[in-house]
Amino acid sequence: MDPRHLPIYEIEDDLVQAAHGGGRRIVLQAPTGSGKSTQVPQMLLDHGLVPPGKTVVILQPRRLAARLLAVRVAEERRVALGDEVGYQIRFENRTGPGTRVIYVTEGILLRRLVSDPTLADIAVLVFDEFHERHLFGDITLARALQLQQTLRPDLTLIVMSATLDGAAVQKYLEPCALLQAEGRMFPVRMEYLAKPVDSDRTPIWVTAAAATADLLAREPQGDVLVFMPGAYEIHRTIQALAAEPAARHCAIMPLHGELPVRDQDAAVSPCERRKIIVSTNVAETSLTIAGVRLVVDGGLARVARFDPYRGIDTLWIEKISRASADQRAGRAGRTAPGVCLRLWTEREQAERPLRDMAEIKRVDLAETVLMLKAGGCPDVRAFPWFEAPDSRALDRAETLLKDLNALNEAGTEVTPTGLRMLAFPVHPRYARMLLAAEGYGCVRSMALIAALTQERNLLLKRVDAMVEEQRERRLGDEEQSDVFLLMRAWVEASAHDFDVEYCRRLGIHASTARQAGRLYETFCRIAGGEGLTLEPDLILDDRVRRCLLAGFADQVARRLDGGTLRCELVHGRRGVLERASVVRKSPFLVVAEVREVESGGGRDMDVLLSLATAIEPEWLEELFAGAVREEQRVRFDDSRRVVAERGRYYHDMVLEVKRGGVPSESDAARLLADEVQAGRCTLKLWNEEVDQWILRVNSLRRWCPDLGLPEITAADRRLMIEAICLGAMSVKEVKDRAVSPVVKSWLDGRQQSLLDKHAPDRLVMPGGKRVKVTYTEAAPPSVAVRIQDLYGVPDSLRIAMGRQTVVIQVLAPNFRPVQVTSDLTTFWKESYPKVKKELQRKYPKHEWR
Ligand code: ADP
Ligand code: MG
Repeated sequence: MDPRHLPIYEIEDDLVQAAHGGGRRIVLQAPTGSGKSTQVPQMLLDHGLVPPGKTVVILQPRRLAARLLAVRVAEERRVALGDEVGYQIRFENRTGPGTRVIYVTEGILLRRLVSDPTLADIAVLVFDEFHERHLFGDITLARALQLQQTLRPDLTLIVMSATLDGAAVQKYLEPCALLQAEGRMFPVRMEYLAKPVDSDRTPIWVTAAAATADLLAREPQGDVLVFMPGAYEIHRTIQALAAEPAARHCAIMPLHGELPVRDQDAAVSPCERRKIIVSTNVAETSLTIAGVRLVVDGGLARVARFDPYRGIDTLWIEKISRASADQRAGRAGRTAPGVCLRLWTEREQAERPLRDMAEIKRVDLAETVLMLKAGGCPDVRAFPWFEAPDSRALDRAETLLKDLNALNEAGTEVTPTGLRMLAFPVHPRYARMLLAAEGYGCVRSMALIAALTQERNLLLKRVDAMVEEQRERRLGDEEQSDVFLLMRAWVEASAHDFDVEYCRRLGIHASTARQAGRLYETFCRIAGGEGLTLEPDLILDDRVRRCLLAGFADQVARRLDGGTLRCELVHGRRGVLERASVVRKSPFLVVAEVREVESGGGRDMDVLLSLATAIEPEWLEELFAGAVREEQRVRFDDSRRVVAERGRYYHDMVLEVKRGGVPSESDAARLLADEVQAGRCTLKLWNEEVDQWILRVNSLRRWCPDLGLPEITAADRRLMIEAICLGAMSVKEVKDRAVSPVVKSWLDGRQQSLLDKHAPDRLVMPGGKRVKVTYTEAAPPSVAVRIQDLYGVPDSLRIAMGRQTVVIQVLAPNFRPVQVTSDLTTFWKESYPKVKKELQRKYPKHEWR
């Protein structure tokens, strides 16, 4: 079919007009299959909107799509791939000096910004599939917007999507043109399962194969597209389909990112026979396969999500949202009326989330933060995010990068190590490990470890004695590292070609081991690509242990005692080493997993440390000189005397202490003040009067700011306590120390006399009686006075230069309270006559005026 019939050509003129002159912002919304990804770059090129020598770059969420789109467009233009049209993805670059249209993925552009801050040769940047809200799409768009507002006013930005919430993006990009094209869409009949399937008992591929066979039998026409979460499930589905008679005459093809290029091409190309394509969600919106009229949706996808246990992102298989499922269904109605069969019930449909959570809200940001900082955004909190990430996620990323030595202590600058790490398109942990391995000559081992720590543990836990024995025989004794044990297990499994039966005997998860093998190859390729030498053999010695430390610098632990498995972790955390760990002797460890587990009836959380490796404390200095400090600290000995010790610390974790030296008076005072504030030591002479004195100062300051008295804050109180403790070296010495002189020295003589005058501790009554004034934080000051002493007092008692009335508690001769008032005139007139009558009888000897 001539591409010019595609719906996107309805808006060709509008697009050309909107993009004319450059430096524009355009949002383009059109259904999947209407020609956005393949045609828009060509329109731009053919209408001269990309000046000679410049390029149009299209950011894609998926590598597979980037490659296939480039292939397709090159074909349409009858040019060789890599000439006019090319692609660049994480591990592959198919572009040349003459390439004008480039499909790219992931962090390619952000990385390029580090070396080329203006993206000089790009004229138009296209953000495809923006509705998927991939992390790199979000961030690259924000950076591009900044760039357009500053160094590159001529850069044109186009945001494309099938289901975009156009208004939100348009607002973000304001001023911005919004173009929409209607797609042609045939009706799709929806079918659900009648009963829910227990996926623990019946794997999704079994359900899918049966459903597909049923559909093939009922619907004589059209190719079938089956959605599965990943390569493994696709493989199993194809196996199951091969056994279905209904699928016997069909060509069954997989489609996912790990396939050889030839197979990827085959899946999207026309075929003589009826086709069944079993695909990941790459076929959801990124790719259109001609001829599909039937869709079987497994309802699952592999989703990247931060795994707090491992401190990295992990791919989880999750239920897709209703929005995703609708996109998948739409694939059946492209060329004719179609059918979509969902492998869940209608009732379960209602329980699915409406939309997916944006990636920025769920993944680790360490790599992104490093790229942003290196690319000219030191303050990531001020970054103009389309949707801001959780600030805790930003904190976590910055802390990790500092720990890995990729950022300076202040977190503001990328270090030379950090810049080198950026070259590796992997999580900063692994970049750091591989870099360290280069120096120690154990790159191959680190590539394997990176693979093994990214997948779930391939050694089954709680195995029986026979497996235990086999393991010991085959894997040998290991005391240095749980990771070494994993490596040996993987080598064994690999040597037996991941044979399921053999693996079972050793308690090894065969498919996990196989999967780790593929990752291992990837990490080797990345290391080789960055010019690191891959030694011929795997190494298991202390060089490797050092590199593990480099990558997990934030998970260093110290055993708290010899008897238990309790540990202290750097950054003020605690945890318990897993019982199964082979690392039993070393007081210092680095762990690759920190896992919070419920314990004790589910109320407490225990922190379980696993995949441990013994380390020497000197290595911390070797690798992280800046984080190891020698300091004198003070503490109490058993008799609560202050003693000094010199210690070495890795961040806040103590590595070594030597008692000795004389504590400085100020350090001792601070330590003693802590005890006082915590209530573990009482200053006997810090009495009510002292507290009242402080209240008087603060009250007077409030009533008469013009007197210029200082405020006494909580911090000042703390300083007072330290001053009281100064010179003492034990809790015992502190107890009886003088308090009042130290506290009162806060005011000079002039201030003290102002205080005594305007906020006195006592008031003198006309008859000469001195009564105590009580000050409080919130209520007015008050006195308690017997009636006889009040004779001659004017209408009220006032202090603070007459600005503050004192509340009077009027007492009978026996000190019983009679009334509370601050207005004596009313008291004398209204209450007093009654009170007097009654009291005079009782106390005739007293004076009654
Ligand atoms: P959109 O990005 O709007 O979803 P595309 O530009 O990807 O649309 O595709 C437009 C049309 O081009 C599709 O409907 C399909 O018919 C055709 N097409 C795209 N890629 C291929 C391919 N590799 N092989 C055959 N046809 C293709
Ligand atoms: Mg597209």
